[in-house]
Amino acid sequence: MDPVKYVNIDGRDIPLEGEKSLLDVIRKAGIEIPTFCYVSELSVYGACRMCTVEIEGRGLQTSCSTPPEPGLKIKTNTETVRQIRRVALELILANHERECTTCGKSTNCKLQDLSKKLGVEKIRFRSVLKPVPVDESNPSIVRNPNKCILCGDCVRMCQEVQGIGAIDFAHRGHHVVVQPAFGKGLQDVQCVYCGQCARVCPTGALTPKSEVDVVWKSLQDNKKTVVVQIAPAVRVALGEAFGYQPGEVTTGQIVAALKIMGFKKVFDTCFSADLTILEEGNEFIKRLTNDLPLPMFTSCCPAWVKYVEQHHPELIPNLSTCKSPQQMFGSVAKDIFAPEMGVRKEDMVVVSIMPCTAKKFEAKRPEFSNNGMADVDHVITTQELAQMINEYGIQFRNLKPESLDMPMGFKTGAGVIFGNTGGVMEAALRYVYEKVEGKTLDNPDFHEVRGDPRG
Ligand code: SF4
Ligand code: SF4
Repeated sequence: MDPVKYVNIDGRDIPLEGEKSLLDVIRKAGIEIPTFCYVSELSVYGACRMCTVEIEGRGLQTSCSTPPEPGLKIKTNTETVRQIRRVALELILANHERECTTCGKSTNCKLQDLSKKLGVEKIRFRSVLKPVPVDESNPSIVRNPNKCILCGDCVRMCQEVQGIGAIDFAHRGHHVVVQPAFGKGLQDVQCVYCGQCARVCPTGALTPKSEVDVVWKSLQDNKKTVVVQIAPAVRVALGEAFGYQPGEVTTGQIVAALKIMGFKKVFDTCFSADLTILEEGNEFIKRLTNDLPLPMFTSCCPAWVKYVEQHHPELIPNLSTCKSPQQMFGSVAKDIFAPEMGVRKEDMVVVSIMPCTAKKFEAKRPEFSNNGMADVDHVITTQELAQMINEYGIQFRNLKPESLDMPMGFKTGAGVIFGNTGGVMEAALRYVYEKVEGKTLDNPDFHEVRGDPRG
């Protein structure tokens, strides 16, 4: 067995266990080194200089881009290191639009967080920021270049993980910007609106486009009957915004909060996820028995569908022809449920609460409207729902849980697992097996198709 190898960090020997960078070893040692341009799932960029440390015999180095060699002696908190981090942060702040009180990322912003942690209370450098227009060209993402700190996280996420490359660095020196090709709006390039760039952006430069105000307006319109569907992932994610443990389910409290806000009926997207599985399962069997294009890919994710349309049009015949659960819900709500309630279709407003920004884009696709009337009118994300609850002043943790409304609050376990990676496939396999074999599954678990929990 190889002897254990160590790196010395601030006087303590820390064993090496296959870490890729010095930064990972330092963090393992319990020291939270700040970074802007380091995201563990992306390639190393080494541009923000925030993770600078002193290495004996080598001087100042960025720890994210330094391999952890045995025997290195590292100092993470010298006077020089502290000064470098502060100056780097001041330079970033000098050229950043600092409208913190009205920024969508306020209180959840790495810049704010680090300014406080590093004790930066004034900025000694003159700004050379020349304000440019905000890009609101698309239904899903707002891009405010005035808040961009050029960390490149979004660029690498879009290229390396999503395989799109809708945004990149342009120009040189002081003029460097991150933008879509030729300075176009995101609407006019091949962005699939997945929102992954906004997820990693440490500032308010990329944020989901809010529909909170239009939803309030509908709720306060007496002529409208507003119904809402909740996607499976939302009931797990929302709790964290109100101090629940990650993974804790808060469906009952969400229903209660939505009823207080004025939603007439609170339904479950799992209901239409079950419909999707019936449709997709039968379509799959039909393809299998009629020699139609296989494999069949799901059409539930609008970012995936747009990706196929743009990058692999030859695979369009392999996409399921079924609507996604969000859109099936919209159709059923307006075409079947509205008449049942005695409400005119044009007076019903369907709102979705979804975990993904691409759902905003999907709802606006012309294929999903009838005579100019959208099946789903507004889509808000989990964060937007949290904002509405806070804005209303609802004490979420004190709410008495309420039940989803019937009939579209009914679901099976198959509908619920849509919220997990691989869940659509597993639900489809459960249905198809029983339909083809004519018998109940002994064990409904298909572990092989589940997503890797480590991401
Ligand atoms: S939304 Fe997705 S595709 Fe569009 S720029 Fe961001 S990461 Fe790229
Ligand atoms: S938009 Fe955000 S993630 Fe992209 S480079 Fe600018 S600050 Fe970084």
